[in-house]
Amino acid sequence: MPTTHTNTHAKAGMIARLNHPDYDRWASQIRATGGCRQPIHLRGKIEHYDRATGALLHRYTTKHEPDGILRVPCKTRRATRCPACAETYRADTYHLIRAGLIGGKGVPDTVTAHPTLFVTLTAPSFGAVHTRREHGGSVQPCHARRNAGTCPHGQVMSCTTRHSADDPRLGEPLCPDCYDYTGSVLFNALAPLLWKRFADSVRRHLAKAGGLALKNLRHHLTLSFAKVAEYQRRGVVHLHAVIRLDGPGGPAMPPPAWATADTLTQAVQHAARAVTATAPAHKDQSERAFRWGSQLDIRPITLTGDLTEQAVAGYIAKYATKAAECVGTLDRRINPLDNLDAFNLRDHPKRLIAECMRLGALPELTELRLTNWAHMLGFRGHFSTRSRRYSTTLGALRAARQHHTRDTDITTGRLPLFDEDTILVISEWQYAGKGHSAGDQLLAAAITGTRLERSPHEL
Ligand SMILES: [Zn+2]
Ligand SMILES: [Zn+2]
Ligand SMILES: [Zn+2]
Repeated sequence: MPTTHTNTHAKAGMIARLNHPDYDRWASQIRATGGCRQPIHLRGKIEHYDRATGALLHRYTTKHEPDGILRVPCKTRRATRCPACAETYRADTYHLIRAGLIGGKGVPDTVTAHPTLFVTLTAPSFGAVHTRREHGGSVQPCHARRNAGTCPHGQVMSCTTRHSADDPRLGEPLCPDCYDYTGSVLFNALAPLLWKRFADSVRRHLAKAGGLALKNLRHHLTLSFAKVAEYQRRGVVHLHAVIRLDGPGGPAMPPPAWATADTLTQAVQHAARAVTATAPAHKDQSERAFRWGSQLDIRPITLTGDLTEQAVAGYIAKYATKAAECVGTLDRRINPLDNLDAFNLRDHPKRLIAECMRLGALPELTELRLTNWAHMLGFRGHFSTRSRRYSTTLGALRAARQHHTRDTDITTGRLPLFDEDTILVISEWQYAGKGHSAGDQLLAAAITGTRLERSPHEL
């Protein structure tokens, strides 16, 4: 659509909204969504009845709202889709991770005495990529090799460039034709299984250290964790995890005396080396086992040491709102019929996506669901997950916050806090769409002071 046309259209929409008699009500809905860029539209009603008499005490319906709908925040965690909601998600994740480290939000502060590690599990190499190396404050050449060989495609396997931090070539292979695209996407697809096997192996090692049968471990000790996936620029995931030892009841109980930070460190070291996940054989590759990369980072989290609880919580929360888009892929599903050339991607992410589509079509690899997760370069796990007893939950944080927001006021019409024993609440809601019209988008940004830009793929 030509820009001038869009602008005229947006302006007309904006003027119509401003002149509408229910503008104030619309604006108050927009403020209540906290600047959400793509609010969910709900149609429905909520009614409060006196349980004793059956009398209707209060009724709210969206019929009288602007456009007959209530707008509520989309609650995405992805900053590329909605910066406002992603910021809420990031802040909640931060508090949740931090509570698991120092207490708060229902977690006793005695948790600080539990052995806790910050562990980074890396991906192996799938070929040489352009890298920015810093040493003593100066940027080093990327891949300086004296007598560097030439690959079968005629590419000299050396790069003496001192890459700047925003060089788009960073993470891209020296020779794309040599690069193991198959391995890269299969590793991403198997990373969730590799994590599960890693956690199981840590538990087995701990049980052995405590002289216990694995099935009895849970009566003595809980392995609590919170993890997040981070995409490397080359398009593979690394996992960062807070791993903590608790007593059988979770963070409120101390772990047994034998379960020390050293025992946990040994268990993690052992498990990270030992576990494998196997991709089934397919037409051009036999069965292939994947394991974590040789780089393993294990650091204790302490209140006074070099790795503080704020740093860890900040780190995990930051990655929790990012996905693969930082590698230059798309932030939405890709249809097998889509023409990849039309998306204006760089060659590297395009090849990773194409490899997902190619492998995804092979019957032997169906269960890896690579076609569905091509935009994630094969990774279909949850970005940010926690074991049940890590700390409080996002749901609990949201519920606590919603008690204080205007959402409640809008739907209940400022009904005073009611007693659920005496009042019956009946609500019916229907999804009625999503997002803003072009004119509303401009006005909403002005009202909530949020930035306007949309991700390139939404335009
Ligand atoms: Zn939103
Ligand atoms: Zn380079
Ligand atoms: Zn080559």
